[in-house]
Amino acid sequence: MSIIKCPSCKERISDKAKICSHCQFSLVKGTGADGATQEQIASKAKLARMKKRYSLQMQAMSGLILFLAGIVIWYFVGEKGLTKTSHFMQLGAAALGAIWYLITRFRLLLFKKS
Ligand SMILES: [Zn+2]
Repeated sequence: MSIIKCPSCKERISDKAKICSHCQFSLVKGTGADGATQEQIASKAKLARMKKRYSLQMQAMSGLILFLAGIVIWYFVGEKGLTKTSHFMQLGAAALGAIWYLITRFRLLLFKKS
């Protein structure tokens, strides 16, 4: 008995296994549990990955925009032009945007490594 990689999910499984214990990929028929072929599973996984990456990139962009908007308002309106409440809110938005952006960048980094 030796260990091979599942062609679908790349997890390590026994070469005696008929079905991958991780993703239910059938090694006998070469199809997934729902009858999808290896190529279909691979393209599906690739698409899901692309969507996830796109979503993370959009989130990073939103954080950056929020941060920049806070800075731009602060730059053009200045502290005097704003009431205490809106000044606080605008600073909060900028801080939130910066944190959001950094967290999402970090998540993207982890995602790309995986
Ligand atoms: Zn598998």
